[in-house]
Amino acid sequence: MKILVINTGSSSLKFRLFDMRGLVRLASGLVERIGEARGRALLRYRTAAENRERTVERSGPITDHGRAMEEMLSLLGEAGLLAHAGELAGIGHRVVHGGEVFHRPVRIDTRVLEAIAELAPLAPLHNPVNLVGIRAAMAQAPDVPQVAVFDTAFHQTLPEHAYLYGLPYRLYEEHRVRRYGFHGTSHGFVSRQAAGFLDRPYGSLNIITLHLGNGASGAAIRGGRCVDTSMGMTPLEGLLMGTRSGDLDPAILLYLAREAGMDSDELDDLLNRQSGLRGLCGDNDMRTVIGRAEQGDGRAALALRIFCHRLKKYIGAYSAVLGRVDCLVFTGGIGENAALVREMACRDLENLGFILDRQRNLHRTEGIRPIHDDASPVRILVVPTNEELEIARQVVEVITPSEVQTS
Ligand code: ADP
Repeated sequence: MKILVINTGSSSLKFRLFDMRGLVRLASGLVERIGEARGRALLRYRTAAENRERTVERSGPITDHGRAMEEMLSLLGEAGLLAHAGELAGIGHRVVHGGEVFHRPVRIDTRVLEAIAELAPLAPLHNPVNLVGIRAAMAQAPDVPQVAVFDTAFHQTLPEHAYLYGLPYRLYEEHRVRRYGFHGTSHGFVSRQAAGFLDRPYGSLNIITLHLGNGASGAAIRGGRCVDTSMGMTPLEGLLMGTRSGDLDPAILLYLAREAGMDSDELDDLLNRQSGLRGLCGDNDMRTVIGRAEQGDGRAALALRIFCHRLKKYIGAYSAVLGRVDCLVFTGGIGENAALVREMACRDLENLGFILDRQRNLHRTEGIRPIHDDASPVRILVVPTNEELEIARQVVEVITPSEVQTS
């Protein structure tokens, strides 16, 4: 049973092909610089015969997402992984914003396409582009079931008191202003993985998940239901990120508009692309920031401290929201790899029940690993995220009738 997972950006298309019997990733790849003179398509896969990793690359003009999709299918065909699109059991599409409409993944039909388009004002940079990808895939594989998986869906269980802002209620009614949260596929996946690792029913656990990549967000999950999350109406709120500010006093924007004459586009660029680690120390990549800090660079060390202070505040806040915490999960490129960040985020939290084991924290192994001290009331885990596999799993759930799933 082959499932293709597609993540469409404005000039790129990332994809992974899975065989769901055995949950094997058959290939991953990317088509980039779509619409530019020098496009590039890349495929990585493991050859069955030699069990060797192979990379195939092509370059040339790729005029639009339809051509990108053809390129992807042709690469998969040449590698002997997919004879034709009709061989796929399903295609999963990552869609950024599902608003209040989509609480779970759905099979795509005309009504779903209209609803995703209707949500475009909430995610103007993402939803329209996601739609372009879906339409291109539907044209290439008209008979294959297509499923939309939403970044926001996992957070649709948030109670009203967690998703409403302290703004006039009519802004929620008239303009849908509320917290939606993002990275939902990852928060859902790693929290379920953690429950499996701990061999406890998902519904019995209170879990804090920290997804720390270029974007970063936290979630408080009670008995398998998300009850709070740090990203808001857009992915800008909450933790400090590579280039995004995270939380700040909204009056700063008014001040900058008044005093520095900045307009909304300039403020957008400032908050989303020039802030965070980059704004504080000039680098947005955590590896570089840590490297510089270790060489004695004061500004990089400060950026790192601010990043970890913000993490600590959210761990504390979500401990209070949940009342009892069973497990803290670190994931994403930073969460999975930066031992120093985990150590700084958990430092001095012993009284709240978070006791890290320094050696375990430094020790790197594949897969899920516990990094807490044996005496720690809260289990602290590093759980590698795999959003694409989770999307593929959700596609199977949607396209398989429930009587087959349970048999
Ligand atoms: P994205 O959000 O784009 O999926 P990732 O989850 O891959 O990003 O995370 C990227 C971040 O992870 C970058 O800041 C990168 O520096 C950081 N990172 C990756 N490996 C390490 C490492 N070994 N130590 C510290 N940070 C790392």
